[in-house]
Amino acid sequence: MNLRNAHDIRDAVNSGKVSAREVAEAALKRVEAADGALGAFLTLEPELVLKRADAISRTAKEKPLPLAGVPIAIKDNICTRSLRTSCASRILDRYIPAYSATAVQRLENAGAVIIGKANCDEFAMGSSTENSAFKVTRNPYDLDRVSGGSSGGSVVAVAAGMAPLALGSDTGGSVRQPASFCNVVGLKPTYGRVSRYGLVAYASSLDCISPIANNAQDIALLLACIAGRDEHDATSATVPVPDYSEELSRPFSGMRLGIPKEFFGEGLDPEVKSIIEAGIRNAGSLGCELIEVSLPHTGYAIADYYIIAPAEASSNLARFDGVRYGYRTPSPEDLLDMYKRTRSEGFGEEVKRRIMIGTYALSSGYYEAYYGRAMRVRTLIKRDYDRAFEKVDALLSPVSPTPAFKIGEKISDPLAMYLSDIYTVTANLAGIPAMSIPCGFTRAGLPVGLQILANQFREATLLHLAKAYAEAFPLATPQLKA
Ligand code: GLN
Repeated sequence: MNLRNAHDIRDAVNSGKVSAREVAEAALKRVEAADGALGAFLTLEPELVLKRADAISRTAKEKPLPLAGVPIAIKDNICTRSLRTSCASRILDRYIPAYSATAVQRLENAGAVIIGKANCDEFAMGSSTENSAFKVTRNPYDLDRVSGGSSGGSVVAVAAGMAPLALGSDTGGSVRQPASFCNVVGLKPTYGRVSRYGLVAYASSLDCISPIANNAQDIALLLACIAGRDEHDATSATVPVPDYSEELSRPFSGMRLGIPKEFFGEGLDPEVKSIIEAGIRNAGSLGCELIEVSLPHTGYAIADYYIIAPAEASSNLARFDGVRYGYRTPSPEDLLDMYKRTRSEGFGEEVKRRIMIGTYALSSGYYEAYYGRAMRVRTLIKRDYDRAFEKVDALLSPVSPTPAFKIGEKISDPLAMYLSDIYTVTANLAGIPAMSIPCGFTRAGLPVGLQILANQFREATLLHLAKAYAEAFPLATPQLKA
């Protein structure tokens, strides 16, 4: 069974051609064959999956469902009722949520079948999935290389054909960068487009639950199911949700595309650069006008993001204190010792580093110099985009300065790891939608994604361009290694 296309599966299940159980069995079989080598999943409950699939088949007989029987992988920082949600952290190793995230609930209402919980960097902090407390997720195109992160498990589940859809979260690039490394499509929506209720908070003003699939049409389908106002999240937008699939059915007639010159400077791998430049020429040949634009504050983005995100993280992660959730140290001397030991033992190195940086940036005497200033720089970055979108409909850029790097290559150098987020963090700081689409392969056979960005709530623009691009320039894909 082809597990790469969600539309085909849902049509087959709705028409009764195949049962949701057959689909789920095929997905579980693929997981069994490939996941030993890849490490995409942290929690699998095959019996629950089959039970749920049977229930879907019964419902689909009565009325068609938008995601009838479609297997989906859910990143392990998104709450799933009665299903372990560890955030790839020892501190939540045995946490079983009492409720599901709104996005998950909406997917289940649409008939999707959660196939398992996907590995990620601990609390979504990282760019390689090496910060998981439990395992590394490997790249299906080269098993010695990272999948990217932090949503590595979700992306690999889709890339390796274990599920046609996945949910990840993108705070600074965590869906787009692994999508780029593994040849799939990942869309970070506008901030507020999808409810964050039930997404374990990392940096609340940046976090976005984000869809992952093999093509733009499936992203449209998934996004339509999860988007829209939710009374459980005050930051979720009241803006109406367009019919994305309907918009995609219209012919593509070109648009104005901006090329931000600051995204092509020092540090960009020459092979990635030439693949992206070819992608830009391709996009131009679709009847699009190519215009050079400037985003002058891009150079401050990494410093800005790595103040704001840790500051919010230090506050959000204060709740993991051994009292309310998850792990508690076994024999503390007193209350203070309990807090200290629980957090020292429960959090990994990178999470502790972020908590310390964030606490420092927010401390009295430093707050203005760091956090206050970072918030003003954030406004300048947002204004750069506002100006660019006066002239163009979308922007094109690399997703990541390099293809997937070797496992272990950057893990002991946090600064090098942070710098690899240079092209993705500004979309989160500005709150705009951004997408990674497959663009090409290096000589060594590693995927390279092209980033497309649009103004707030213009997801349909991105999906339209992505679909037209993929249809006009299909890629020959190398054999997967698992
Ligand atoms: N790599 C970035 C970080 O570590 C982004 C992570 C994310 O988007 N969740 O913060």
